[in-house]
Parts: sequence; C-alpha cells; structure tokens
Amino acid sequence: MKYYSTNKQSASVDFKEATISGQAPDKGLYFPEQVPVIEKDLINNIEKYSNAEIAFRVIQPYISGLIPDDKLMQIVKETISFPIPLVQITDNISTLELFHGPTLAFKDVGARFMSRCLGYFVGGHNKKVTVLVATSGDTGGAVANGFYNVDGVDVVILYPSGKVSPVQEKQLTTLGKNIHALEIEGNFDDCQRMVKEAFADSELKKRKFLTSANSINVARWLPQQFYYFFAYKQWADKDNPPVISVPSGNFGNICAGILANRSGLPVKHFIAACNVNDIVSDYLQTQQLKPRQAVATLSNAMDVGNPSNFVRILEIFQHQFPELKEMLSSCTITDEETVNTIREVYNKHDYTLDPHGAVGYLALKRYLDIHKNDKGLFMETAHPVKFPDAVEQYTGKKPELPVSVQGIMNSKKISTVMKPQYGSLKDYLLY
Ligand SMILES: *Cc1c(COP(=O)(O)O)cnc(C)c1O
Repeated sequence: MKYYSTNKQSASVDFKEATISGQAPDKGLYFPEQVPVIEKDLINNIEKYSNAEIAFRVIQPYISGLIPDDKLMQIVKETISFPIPLVQITDNISTLELFHGPTLAFKDVGARFMSRCLGYFVGGHNKKVTVLVATSGDTGGAVANGFYNVDGVDVVILYPSGKVSPVQEKQLTTLGKNIHALEIEGNFDDCQRMVKEAFADSELKKRKFLTSANSINVARWLPQQFYYFFAYKQWADKDNPPVISVPSGNFGNICAGILANRSGLPVKHFIAACNVNDIVSDYLQTQQLKPRQAVATLSNAMDVGNPSNFVRILEIFQHQFPELKEMLSSCTITDEETVNTIREVYNKHDYTLDPHGAVGYLALKRYLDIHKNDKGLFMETAHPVKFPDAVEQYTGKKPELPVSVQGIMNSKKISTVMKPQYGSLKDYLLY
C-alpha cells in the first residue's frame, strides 16, 4: 500500500515513511492509494472474532508487510487492551464508550498504535528518535502514555505551567523513564511556537532525529477504524445497521469511520456532531469550506476552526458532493443545549454524559426524531470525570475518578521548568 499526498505535489510513500514523517513535504495529508475490501466473512460472522483478530485484519492491508504479522498482532493487542463497550441508553440510542483507555481519552488507541509502529521502525537505528509535542492538555497525556517504555523513543512534552488540569498534569509528569515533561512558563501558543522552531532548526535536526506525534499521522488516524467494527460486533440488529454520530473536531475519528464503511462495514449514515465551531455544517449546505477562528465551548476538544482531516473525507468521496451528502450530515449543538442534554439524560436515563458525548447524543436524537425506523449509536469520546464541574453542576453528582487513574494522583510530579524561549529548549535537547 502506498500513500499519496492530498496536495499531490509530493511523491507517494509507504506506511513506514508516512508514519515517520507525519505530514507530506507539500503540507498535504497522506492518503491510501486504495481502500482495502474487508472479507465478507469478517462482517457476516463478526461476533465470532476476537477484537484483536478484527483489528489485525482491518489494519493489516494498510501496513503491507512492513511490520511482520506476529509483531503487528502484538502491537494491535497492546493497543486495544481495554474494554470498548456498547451501552444502551434509550430504545433507539446506544453509546460506544471510548474512554476506558489509560488516559480516559479516545485518542489512546491512535497514540498507542502509532507509538508502537514508530518504535518498531526506528528500533534498528543507533540514533534515538525524539518525539516532540506541545499540549494544551489531553493529547499530551495520551501520547505520553502511548510512548511510555517504547524502546528507542524519547518523548519531550511541552505544557503551559498552571494551565492544564491536575489530572492532566499528573498524566504528563509522573511516568518518568523515556517521558520528559517541560513545564513552560507561558501559554499553549508559546509551547507550540517553541516546538515549531525546533522542527525548523536545521542544525538541531542534523544532531537529533526529531519527529512529531501529530494527529494527522496515518498511524494515529487509521486504527480509529477499529471502534466502528467493535460497535458493529456488539450491534444487535445486524439487518438494520446503525446511524453513527461522532463528536467531531479535527474530523479524524469520523473520517476513519467513513473509511471503514467504504471497505465494507455496514453503516446506515454518519452524523458529524459539532459544537458552534461548525464550518462543516456550512460546507454541507453551501459546498464551500470556509475556515474560521475557533471559539471556546464546553466541549473544548472540538473547538477547531479548520478541521485538518476533512480533506481526507473529500478524498474518500473523490470530491463527489452528492455522494458525500448522502452519507454524511452535520448537526450543530450549542453549550446551552449541551448542558440541558447532560441534565436530561442523567435524570431520565441515569446515564452520565461528558460535554462531548452530550453533543453526540443530541445530534443523533434529532436525526432519529425524523428517521423513525432507524436506530443509532454515538461515540462517547471522553470520561465525564475529565469535566467534573460541568457534570456535577448538571447531574448534582460528582463523577468519580476510576481506580486506574487514582494511582497517579499520589505519584510524584517530575518536570523541568523552562522560560518560554526557544534557546532553552534547544539547549535541553542537545545537552
Ligand atoms: C479529540 C477529541 C474529539 C474530536 O475528535 P476528532 O477526531 O478531532 O474529530 C472529540 N472528543 C474528545 C473528547 C476529543 O479528545
């Protein structure tokens, strides 16, 4: 399998190179040259397969032998070593809970898969690879955890001092070993600027093998297809496939779902559930994609004004607007509707949503109110405990920290405090 750049100016590359380089030199996103066809048996008898077997069969065509099968199976098993249950909430609405990973983020799957692939690919080099990331909170934790203890890889994470939540800070700073936390005395933009300067520094790049764990990396994007297969495995009414609503920000997750559908997974329809950062809703009406400045909302992981993966969705549909519109709709949910949904679903159905899940739930409910014969599921992308204030305010109950995370709250924070100056970062990386 080769991957071409969506900007079509750079040469095609294999999975290894796409994983190591992240973005194409022409600043496009890598996209597979063919969409593999899943064997009918896997779809028709999906309950008989273990999650690891399903995941292996889904991802293997994309790797095309660059990782040996037994190693790939091991990577897949480690990637999905936690439950991903489908939970029924109402007669026609279920949720796929994606928050049972080690950092309670759905991004755990992509981060764990990518880190292990990268570890495998750079394993033979005598130069260690350094993954450099700036985080405003969530992604950093998933990346840190995903790369923890991966041989041949050092991770350096920059985060803004005092501007991440206590749980998030613990997730970044207590692992140790190959994970190094830099506590920057500035804001997220400072962290991001310092990382960008490092990637642009040719002297540094001569002396260090630097890479990013960017969310557009194919090795983070493609394994998200697993969720959709696991959802279908647990879906009771196989003759009436689900409508799937996905809380969307950069559109990587929903795009992986659409790709899974294109390779043969039955899905009736996709809904991009958005907060007021909804340029895709506008696109579906006007056929024009107009990036905007993002505005802050309660579902802050979806505060994206220019969703980077949307171009991959256009690519899947080969820029055929009518086909795309047939398969994908979009729904915009305000913060007020989000909190009302958290309250209502808790009171009526005894289920605690986080703000992102609430957007997904309401978008799906609105669709099913019109399409009475359909049933659906939405992706619950974050654990409610990550948004304790909003959740407590509208359910009257403080969400409890899962046992798996309680341990780190007592672990000791280890970070290197740094002024927001590139020179300090460069010195740190070189010495
Ligand atoms: C990243 C994230 C999203 C958005 O996912 P995309 O793939 O960027 O669309 C939604 N919810 C949560 C909790 C997230 O962390």
